[in-house]
Amino acid sequence: MVEQDYYELLGVPRGADEAAIKSAYRRLAKEHHPDRKNGCKESEARFKAIAQAYDVLKDPQKRAAYDRFGHAAFQNGGGDPFAEAGFNGFSDIFSTIFGDFMDQRGARQNAARGADLRYDVELSLEEAFTGIEKTITIEALSTCEVCDGRGCTGLDRCTSHCQTCGGMGKIRTQQGFFMVERGCPNCRGSGEVITNPCGNCHGEGRALTQRKLSVKIPPGVDEGTRIRIAGEGESGVRSAANGDLYLFVHLKRHPIYAREGTTLIAECPVSFTTAALGGSISLPGIDGHKIELKIPAGVQSGEQLRHRGSGMSVLNGRGAGRGDLVARILVETPTRMSAKQKKLLEEFRETETGDECPAVKSFFARARDYLSR
Ligand SMILES: [Zn+2]
Ligand SMILES: [Zn+2]
Repeated sequence: MVEQDYYELLGVPRGADEAAIKSAYRRLAKEHHPDRKNGCKESEARFKAIAQAYDVLKDPQKRAAYDRFGHAAFQNGGGDPFAEAGFNGFSDIFSTIFGDFMDQRGARQNAARGADLRYDVELSLEEAFTGIEKTITIEALSTCEVCDGRGCTGLDRCTSHCQTCGGMGKIRTQQGFFMVERGCPNCRGSGEVITNPCGNCHGEGRALTQRKLSVKIPPGVDEGTRIRIAGEGESGVRSAANGDLYLFVHLKRHPIYAREGTTLIAECPVSFTTAALGGSISLPGIDGHKIELKIPAGVQSGEQLRHRGSGMSVLNGRGAGRGDLVARILVETPTRMSAKQKKLLEEFRETETGDECPAVKSFFARARDYLSR
């Protein structure tokens, strides 16, 4: 059976608009109505064909499929397209080519869910050590106070089915060779439209507001730590889920300590006499306690003195877990000496045998060996 082109059947050009197709159909349907032709077989077939053509061309999606695939778009296994099965072939071809409809509920949720928000919070090292509760101010889309997030005024039902998408929340359009599915612009994917929109939020149920929020930052956070606060992001459209709030932690520079994980590191310059004779230094601990560090006699530049348990608190560490404190020794050579001090050092030098500084002695020994080779 050779199919007649649907456009030819209705006698309209391929680019005809909806109105032209509709009026052509009405005219032809009247003309070929079986009642008028006294049930003539040929006329009945013609009437069916016209109805069939109109059924496809009046629907933008079916029409697009027809434009692309011709009658094949409506055939199921090559059967007679007029068979009682009707348009089953249509949904088949859609599901094979364009995939099944997504789960509608899931799609709606996504379309209306509030966005996640980012908030950068700067802490001192002490605050990061103890953890802190901070009050922050967020400007974001939040539940509309006028309508309490309903999106409409009055006590009646707020929404009705969206006409544009038939309540599906999405529409299909033809783009070149492809059928593209996208969220319905009229209802923004919800499938419903507001009947009496709230003047404050224009039916969204959320409006830009400033709100204060108290956030708890646990002990032990570091530069770049991200804290998720569920549900404190942007409000969703009407009853949809809120987004989340993410706190991004930044640490201010500390005058004494650098941080490597849970270890606190202090660069500690010591005078050369302390380095030679030994002594002690006192450091301000991150918890406020003084830390006395014993400097052993003969300490060298670059040596690390470790004080266990005086470092940073451990993030999510139950109890009193703490890292270590490390003092990195830098021996400073004196540059401003009095005449008397210089004289004393001169006297010291005269007593030197070379054994006081073994590294110096061995270096020059190696240098001498090298020259005498
Ligand atoms: Zn409102
Ligand atoms: Zn819609």
